[in-house]
Amino acid sequence: MSDRPYDVIVIGAGSVGVPTAHALASAGLDTLVLDERASPGQGANKAAIGGVRATHALGAKIRLGRRSLEVFSTWDEVHGDDIEWLSGGYVFVAYRHEEEAAFRRLLLVQHRHGLPIDWLDAEALLRVAPDLVREGLRGGTLSPDDGHCSTLLASHAMFEAAKRAGATFRFGEQVTAIEVERGRVRGVRTDRGRYAAPSVVNAAGAGAARIAGLVGERVDVRPDMHEAGITEPVAPFLGPMVVDVRPAPGSANFYFYQARGGQVIFCLTPSPPLWGDDTRETSAFLPMIARRMVSLMPRLAHARVRRTWRGLYPMTPDGSPLVGWSAACDGFVHAVGMCGQGFMLGPGVGELITRMVRAETTLEDDDTLSALSPQRPFVGQEVLR
Ligand SMILES: Cc1cc2nc3c(=O)[nH]c(=O)nc-3n(C[C@H](O)[C@H](O)[C@H](O)COP(=O)(O)OP(=O)(O)OC[C@H]3O[C@@H](n4cnc5c(N)ncnc54)[C@H](O)[C@@H]3O)c2cc1C
Repeated sequence: MSDRPYDVIVIGAGSVGVPTAHALASAGLDTLVLDERASPGQGANKAAIGGVRATHALGAKIRLGRRSLEVFSTWDEVHGDDIEWLSGGYVFVAYRHEEEAAFRRLLLVQHRHGLPIDWLDAEALLRVAPDLVREGLRGGTLSPDDGHCSTLLASHAMFEAAKRAGATFRFGEQVTAIEVERGRVRGVRTDRGRYAAPSVVNAAGAGAARIAGLVGERVDVRPDMHEAGITEPVAPFLGPMVVDVRPAPGSANFYFYQARGGQVIFCLTPSPPLWGDDTRETSAFLPMIARRMVSLMPRLAHARVRRTWRGLYPMTPDGSPLVGWSAACDGFVHAVGMCGQGFMLGPGVGELITRMVRAETTLEDDDTLSALSPQRPFVGQEVLR
């Protein structure tokens, strides 16, 4: 056992674990982060394309997303690191009645939560994204405050800030056991040592179910394999992240944006889902997404792709995260099952976990925690997962 007990141990230095460590350490808690990989952000975090939005369908996610958006968009101002943030907005395009009706319905919830998001008719939308195919375009939603940044720069900046705030990181250590005494967590064991703390956070991403299993608890998080890609840089032509949710053979939706460096970065949701943890890229992805992107924005036919990659969405049965105390022992908290949004929710989730550990949750937090409870009955599907 290490000679000093920590206040909190975070398992996983990814999209959730790193900002959680930053929030915990900034609140004065002596925090240890353990990750089996060699450095921060090397799991799903570095596969993410860096989209950040408060535009969600569920109040709980809107709250966490809005706070995270504030953190990302002001990071440079507050902490002095350029994370390549750009408030380009998010555009959800509608070419069919189904999508128009669904987006308009969502606007009711989004407006209730005060999000600055609007329905634009086809002409107005084409002023925002002029290269979209005009034929059949009914319009779409625009949320101008949403944006994107580099996941590598952001996780590195948050890692450095967490260390400056006092957090300790240990890499290359796999958590193999959680020590529990009289129903309360006492610490964790790794393949290299033992560490004591009265609070432990499960932020293990695709490994979340295995970590919960260490205390005999079942959390329903299954990895789903998603691919993404990046083109060569080209002159600026596209402001917002464009999302097309129309289903097509082999895929449910796809989305892309132009990064500050000029590259177009893109991603697609396979349908049916591809369950598993194989992170080798495939030869099927690029032809599938290229066809979809060029048919939505013909100009993209000229963009040359540099590389593609594959990572894991840690999925839950209803497409919303699992955030809450363990049902198996006291002091153990899950911040897992982030699906396709762990990067954009990370900072908000980290601050919520900090309030939980300090027993300082607000009424709004209680509402969020009830919606995201790991013990909730899973009914329905998050529309914008
Ligand atoms: C192609 C693609 C595009 C995406 N695009 C976006 C996007 O634009 N915006 C967005 O918000 N999200 C996006 N995502 C989703 C996002 O990547 C995930 O939701 C997010 O990274 C999950 O964060 P996490 O912290 O739960 O997991 P991770 O970032 O994977 O971190 C978990 C960490 O836990 C560690 N770990 C696991 N088990 C153990 C153990 N036993 N001991 C020690 N360490 C352990 C792992 O090594 C890992 O570092 C995308 C994902 C993919 C694959």
